[in-house]
Amino acid sequence: MITIVWFRQDLRLSDNPALSEAAAQGKVLPVFILEDPQTSGETHALGGASRWWLHHSLRSLKQDLGDLLILRGDARVALPALVEQTGAEAVHWNRCYEPQAIERDSEIKASLKEAGVNVRSFKASLLFEPWELETKTGGPFKVYSPFWRAAQQKIFSAPLPRPQKLELASFEAESTIDDLELLPAQPNWAEGWDRLWTPGEQGARERLSAFLEKDLEGYGELRNRPDLPNVSRLSPHLHFGEISPGQIRQETLAAAEHRDGLDKDAAKFLSEIGWREFAYHLLYHFPTIPHANWKPGFDAYPWRESEEDLRAWQSGQTGYPIVDAGMRELWQTGYMHNRVRMIVASFLIKHLRLDWRHGEAWFRDTLLDADLANNSASWQWVAGSGADASPYFRIFNPMTQGAKFDPEGDYVRKWVPELKELDTTYLNAPFEAPKVALEKAGLRLGETYPRPIVDHFKARDAALEGYQLVKQAN
Ligand code: FAD
Repeated sequence: MITIVWFRQDLRLSDNPALSEAAAQGKVLPVFILEDPQTSGETHALGGASRWWLHHSLRSLKQDLGDLLILRGDARVALPALVEQTGAEAVHWNRCYEPQAIERDSEIKASLKEAGVNVRSFKASLLFEPWELETKTGGPFKVYSPFWRAAQQKIFSAPLPRPQKLELASFEAESTIDDLELLPAQPNWAEGWDRLWTPGEQGARERLSAFLEKDLEGYGELRNRPDLPNVSRLSPHLHFGEISPGQIRQETLAAAEHRDGLDKDAAKFLSEIGWREFAYHLLYHFPTIPHANWKPGFDAYPWRESEEDLRAWQSGQTGYPIVDAGMRELWQTGYMHNRVRMIVASFLIKHLRLDWRHGEAWFRDTLLDADLANNSASWQWVAGSGADASPYFRIFNPMTQGAKFDPEGDYVRKWVPELKELDTTYLNAPFEAPKVALEKAGLRLGETYPRPIVDHFKARDAALEGYQLVKQAN
């Protein structure tokens, strides 16, 4: 018997129930389909950085499996055609939760079932299905803490090993991974990324081990320090399903059991995995969060429009060093530290008063871990418009945030090298530095580094004034 296993955001062999079940039943035909955003009705197409990761992750998956059929086009058409060509009796996949994916998968499931094909879908990218957890009164959770408390009461399933035996069905290759043209060409803005990242299942497992061994200790506090290495950087691996949250949970608990003093850090780390679960819970129950304010009162917010300010923010030229450092880290590596993501997002929304959807779109295109659930929930969290969000009136001061979380200035100096020689006292506000300090650092404001594009205090007042309209609309 032949089972088609349709790989999507589960690019791994271990803890992959769709693959394990198929392998246990007979021959497996593994397929990846690159969908065209037009034909799939996808509103949030794959961003440039994600495409880079996907290319490398597919290569790794193909090598691990032995082979992988690559198709391009509408899965609604491609899958039934493949069933017909190969005589496959079953189709398996692991579930995705993006609204467009749910719609597409339901349609495909219904039509294949009608054609007599045995179609099965599995849970592989979350600890709990979004519908498995509900409040005492029976609805979805809107607040994180009770959500994560309820999750702790549930039984966690143990991750599956790699299938012991994997026999592939023979097939004729239609396209190669290179044919998908996922890599940037002219210019190749991802040059050197392969030295920073190792996409694929093996890379994900090595990243987790290195984190647990060295950087989990102190995570609870040090996770807020962009100048230190104490975060896992697992997010792109998790997004593409090269590792499952169940595997991360199991190994983290094992690490904490074997070494004293790690319990709190391990619990904090797993609670961040819990935020990911919560974002998926929200996306499933409130599928409009990628494009509409979760709190409709925010529709009354008087957003500005300014191409010039948006471009200054995107290119790390705002004149606020911690903001510019974050935006340049993002552009140069496809990643930005979580603390800095919060600072730059707050700056776009509150200092520049540009709609959070502009920020969401830029992150979607430039982040290697761009993820519809996490990205939209996080942007709405910072904007104050989301579920369990940070209150709008809490406006980050980029100068004090920089001084607090990058105390020696190592992070800013790394990404904004023109400020390298500036005394740490002025590093987060070069525009307040006396002439002599600027001269000593070889800095000419407005020439070698921009003057601030907005005044922090005036911007703060304007943001709060705009918020009055939201309050009135509520
Ligand atoms: P760690 O601290 O090591 O955390 C481990 C894992 O937990 C992460 O890999 C991630 O899967 C999950 N996680 C951690 N923090 C959060 C969070 N706040 N919300 C949801 N899950 C979390 N994360 C994405 O994966 N994709 C995105 O597109 C994304 N966009 C964001 C946009 C903004 C404006 C903000 C403020 C945050 C965003 N995040 C996003 C959440 C968070 O910043 C990243 O998950 C985290 O920085 C990834 O780094 P890490 O793997 O080293 O994190």
